[in-house]
Amino acid sequence: MSSLTGDSYPPTLDDALERDRLVQTIKDWTIANGLAVRPPPAIAGNDSEGILAMSAPVTLFPSPFPKSCFAEAEAIQTKYNELYARISQDEEFLSGLVQEVAGGDEFIANLWDIHLRVKKEGYVQNLSLGLFRSDYMVHQDGDNLQIKQVEFNTIASSFGGLSAQISLLHKHLAKTEYPLLKDTIPQSSIDLPTNQSAEGLAAGLAAAFHAYGKSTLGHPTCVVFLVQDGERNVFDQRHLEYALQSSDPDTTVPVFRLPFSQILTHTTLAPSSRGRQLLYHPPHNPTLTFEVAVAYFRAGYGPGDYPTPTAWEARYQIERSAAIACPSVLTQLAGMKKVQQVLATPESVASTPSALRRFVSDDDMSHAALWKTFTNIYPLDNATPAGREARRLAADAEECKKYVMKPQREGGGNNFYKTAIPQQLKEIPEAHWGSYILMELITPPPVVNTILRNGALEHGGVICELGVYGTCLWDQATGEVLRNEESGYLLRTKGDQSEEGGVAAGYGCMDSCRLV
Ligand code: ADP
Ligand code: MG
Repeated sequence: MSSLTGDSYPPTLDDALERDRLVQTIKDWTIANGLAVRPPPAIAGNDSEGILAMSAPVTLFPSPFPKSCFAEAEAIQTKYNELYARISQDEEFLSGLVQEVAGGDEFIANLWDIHLRVKKEGYVQNLSLGLFRSDYMVHQDGDNLQIKQVEFNTIASSFGGLSAQISLLHKHLAKTEYPLLKDTIPQSSIDLPTNQSAEGLAAGLAAAFHAYGKSTLGHPTCVVFLVQDGERNVFDQRHLEYALQSSDPDTTVPVFRLPFSQILTHTTLAPSSRGRQLLYHPPHNPTLTFEVAVAYFRAGYGPGDYPTPTAWEARYQIERSAAIACPSVLTQLAGMKKVQQVLATPESVASTPSALRRFVSDDDMSHAALWKTFTNIYPLDNATPAGREARRLAADAEECKKYVMKPQREGGGNNFYKTAIPQQLKEIPEAHWGSYILMELITPPPVVNTILRNGALEHGGVICELGVYGTCLWDQATGEVLRNEESGYLLRTKGDQSEEGGVAAGYGCMDSCRLV
């Protein structure tokens, strides 16, 4: 496999003085510009005053990334937005897939129940906002480089705030530092795409805020970020908030951060007869009441956020309210790995054609473009030829090395890789295998880079994962799409010995693309 990294890029920085200068510049820039996270207790002690921040893990140099692949991923994002907006509107389709996984997955079953409860009383808000991120790795097939989708995120797509910052950091270094290295890198030799991820996502939130309109109850309207307790990635979220404020100097968009665990403490619903508006009562000033136009979830994507039945009632309160949910329950469910699997099941072993045809007709140009980005994904049921083929592959000591097995989960740390797959299958009841999917591993061309994490340098082979953000606002009832935009990118890089890639989960780091 040919490497994307040339002989001299990125430089290895064998000279300690050069290395230290670059590292110091990065340490200062990251803090000065909020490319930062809250420190974990292992580093900060208990930081009971909550005053400490530390640099987010970053690469010293932007990783080389094929220009054609980058362009393809950007160009296809609006098609993906539309596809997932359509899937969210197809309740019958989602229902079938939920039935297939719910037996082994109580979390998915509970989400579906929320949808059914709200459907019964009637939704009062048809607008739905997606702040999406489609993740890819580059797959090399001979001389051909092709992006292959890792997953499509429909809830809490993170790092849009920090990603814009690392693009700026690498641009700053390309201007001021890289040209001064002994193995000089002229600024003109580095092609760094601009990255509007923070502005792009904020513009999506703004579009939904304005589409909500004025309160008929006479309250000021607001956006609420539903967040996790003890969130360390808070600055990433704050960047979106700040971008939302600066996007339009003439309008103030009140933004509140509300812990998911406190939804029922600080919000109430207006009665159904008035429109079930979601009212937010800021604890710092009980004389104020805001009407929530947009409820933006940066929490609620995994079972950990629902420790009690009350947490599910909180989710129900948001879903049945008039606030525009980002995402709604159906949109969250559209992001199930099961959905990705039925879109991407190889037709050679499938008993039914790919579900992609249900949403995008064959003769539509975007059908082929989307299809090209899929890698083979199988169900693990016992009823279909594809499922039986997958069971054979997953159980085989050699074949399993080409696969990753995934449950219907988000947030990292949930998957089983290669030889861990047969063992894991033994540990779960066979009746629950259908709640997992089996996906072919993508093996991107080797790249070398240096990661700065917790003040220490890690040099070696890395794997890069590109994410492209998309913002989409649509009407669930009519299908009308009010906004559909590609909204910037994320490059996450991890050591090539690590299987998981999450930055927040501690595996990956922030990076940007040097187009080659
Ligand atoms: P999560 O929802 O937990 O983020 P992902 O599907 O993104 O789950 O998988 C987590 C990580 O595992 C990815 O960031 C990537 O590094 C790795 N991974 C997942 N699927 C594949 C694949 N098909 N090929 C190679 N690596 C993969
Ligand atoms: Mg992921």
